[in-house]
Amino acid sequence: MSSAFQSIAEAIHAAETIAILSHMRPDGDAIGSQLALMLSLRQLGKQVVAWNENGLPDSFRFLRYSELVTMPPPPAEARIFDLAIALDTATRQRLGTTLNAIRSAGYWINIDHHASNPGYGDLNYIDSSAPATGQIIYEFLQSQALPLTQETADALYVAISTDTGSFRYPNTRARTFEIAAHLISAGVNAGELARHLYDSYPKRRILLLGELLRNARFDAEDRVASLSLTRETKDRYQVKPEDIDGLIDSIRAVDTVAVAIFFEELKDGRIRISMRSKDDRIDVSRLCAEFGGGGHALAAGARARGSLGEVSARVLERVINEIGRSI
Ligand code: 5GP
Ligand code: MN
Repeated sequence: MSSAFQSIAEAIHAAETIAILSHMRPDGDAIGSQLALMLSLRQLGKQVVAWNENGLPDSFRFLRYSELVTMPPPPAEARIFDLAIALDTATRQRLGTTLNAIRSAGYWINIDHHASNPGYGDLNYIDSSAPATGQIIYEFLQSQALPLTQETADALYVAISTDTGSFRYPNTRARTFEIAAHLISAGVNAGELARHLYDSYPKRRILLLGELLRNARFDAEDRVASLSLTRETKDRYQVKPEDIDGLIDSIRAVDTVAVAIFFEELKDGRIRISMRSKDDRIDVSRLCAEFGGGGHALAAGARARGSLGEVSARVLERVINEIGRSI
């Protein structure tokens, strides 16, 4: 058993009250990891909350007990915890408003798979070789011989399936399939979860995608593709944040494309940048870091100040330049 897992286990055993946090705009890895760890720690008799800035996206409501993952209470109701555990969150800042709901925490643990994570916890477990934080949580729960209930297995499967693009991205290893096989033995219905995750979108999402694709932009001999989503379009389609997740995959899937970019105008006036690379020579986490963000080599993001037009022009210029130098 790794000694880091042992230290995490000791901190958990010493704590009564535990807050499990994850990043704003949570994806499947964030929600699945939070839910799996929360359910396991509740079985140990701990008082556990699981918070992220946006709460539970509707798209993960099919997971049993997922309603236990919520938005944080307002700052006036901030609480004291023995232990806070951040999952899948590359920077402390991406914990967002959950931080205001924690008056203090005796100890901070930071468990993540982003190489760019600076290690903002008292104890940091960063494994950038893990394709999903859910895979680390699985290894941790196994190391502690914690029971793998059906609900925990489902949550972990969702985390790993979504962060590997349904076992397609290059981060998918033999170990990932071994874990998936074990989760299926524990009762996961892979077909049913895949249907919930990938074949159950609201109609507005496909209509929105149609409009975005009509206005898709291709640069650098079609090696760079980008989509831009304005606030006006979001309002018109009554878009929820989870509707936007994965839209970038449509342009990423074009044969010539090496870098796909999604620009989204946020309510706070900033622009959310989401990037995907299909080429090892283009590390989009480095490109996004230049705009104040980070992430993984092949999937990264940032939030930048400026108008949609300004930010997209600036980012596209930089990416096109990088493509010219590297490919
Ligand atoms: P997505 O494009 O799906 O929002 O995010 C892809 C990856 O980039 C995720 O692993 C996510 O953690 C990271 N990421 C997205 N937005 C930001 C950001 O604003 N800052 C940082 N540091 N990482 C981000
Ligand atoms: Mn992740």
